[in-house]
Amino acid sequence: MVIYSHSRLSTYEQCPMKFKFKYLDKIPVEIEDTIECFMGRKVHEALEWFYKKIIIGEVPKLKDVLEQYECSWFKDFNKEIKIVKKEFSSEDYFIKGHYFISKYYEKNYPFENNILAIEKKILVDLDGKGEYLLRGFIDRLDYNKETKEYEIHDYKTGGWMKSQKELDKDRQLALYSLGIKQEFSDAERILLNWHFLAFNKKMFSLRTNEELEKLKQKTIELIKKIEIETNWPTSKSALCDWCEFQEHCGKVQSLNLDNLSSKEDI
Ligand code: SF4
Repeated sequence: MVIYSHSRLSTYEQCPMKFKFKYLDKIPVEIEDTIECFMGRKVHEALEWFYKKIIIGEVPKLKDVLEQYECSWFKDFNKEIKIVKKEFSSEDYFIKGHYFISKYYEKNYPFENNILAIEKKILVDLDGKGEYLLRGFIDRLDYNKETKEYEIHDYKTGGWMKSQKELDKDRQLALYSLGIKQEFSDAERILLNWHFLAFNKKMFSLRTNEELEKLKQKTIELIKKIEIETNWPTSKSALCDWCEFQEHCGKVQSLNLDNLSSKEDI
């Protein structure tokens, strides 16, 4: 049985052919690390380190969190990391991450959150029978004792922000909230929080039980669609620039053109 993830579903929605290359053919590719992913990872790691300290009763100073970020960046950075946007350098991204952490720290000080878990693994049983499972990781899970709400927190380091309307329809955290409801019997209200670090802005959304029920059904339908897919069409978009299967995709397309050519279709 396949256990799905939000990124697995998104890959299919982005491009069925990419899904095939990645999950069915399992084409070995040298996964190029992009600078956006690298920076995002380093910021997440620094915040993970920070909140783990808070769980044990320490509140590190901003300079300590930044030092953690810097050490980790210089330990792991290498020249192979791909910079797609040629107008920026790796230093620009390093500074961006630095800025994100500083602003986040200032905005959220003094950190009195009641933290339940960091990088929490979640398993969602979509059909209640264990036939359609989805797993994921929550950046941070809090419990607000005053409002009795569970809070899912997600840090975003991308250079774009979603609108409230988009967040009210966001699938990933809503799916994770299903997992929290299944794990914690007192989890009635779950606040979904996004921290858009590039904009120093926190936004939130809530889902009704009815909305979550619909989401479960829609997600099961999407999984069923993937499981009976046989055509695996390509879907070109700006995201192709970041696709690790560009070379394979080009070969498939030229093969298709050859077939058409032999049938004098072009
Ligand atoms: S390069 Fe684009 S069209 Fe080709 S597999 Fe990747 S995402 Fe799909």
